[in-house]
Amino acid sequence: MRKSVIIGEKGNNMAWDDFFEDEIKCSECGTSDMVESYGSGDTFALFILDYPEKDEIRSGKAIAGSVEGILKSEISKLRGSIRDYSFTTIWKHIPNGNEKCRDIGFAKTIEEANKFPIIILMGKLATELFINQKYKEFSGLQVTSLYLPDTKIFVCPHPKTLFGGGVGEFRLALGKIMNEVKECF
Ligand SMILES: [Zn+2]
Repeated sequence: MRKSVIIGEKGNNMAWDDFFEDEIKCSECGTSDMVESYGSGDTFALFILDYPEKDEIRSGKAIAGSVEGILKSEISKLRGSIRDYSFTTIWKHIPNGNEKCRDIGFAKTIEEANKFPIIILMGKLATELFINQKYKEFSGLQVTSLYLPDTKIFVCPHPKTLFGGGVGEFRLALGKIMNEVKECF
């Protein structure tokens, strides 16, 4: 069910449809406005966010636009690079109120997370689903999840909390987590 995108050379005259060999669709609601995880397979840590928005859907990646911008700049402030990490979302399309769509996304996320020694739960939904707790009480801390018993798991506020004045909380948590993660590399 992976989407294979073949990027054509400039000026060639392949039809647009030829670029998409196998479009991914949600098996519950049928939408093809989906995102895939973002980042190289060589990374050790996976950030799990809640859901994609318009910018992400447009790019087909789990993070794009303002969320990608915040993470790029905050990680580089901590002397890291966004290229050292991978990113995914629980919902693989814009939330539509259908819990089955969310559960399909969650199952896929667990599958993805299994490939990483470290995961970082970002924000409310990821934290509630993986550890059944409120993220605010575990911000910056290491936790355990029955879904991933062998994985190092951390909790961090969602990057968008920066817009609501949560800069301090976000930076503190991310800084603590990055320190722990660096020790594992
Ligand atoms: Zn769906």
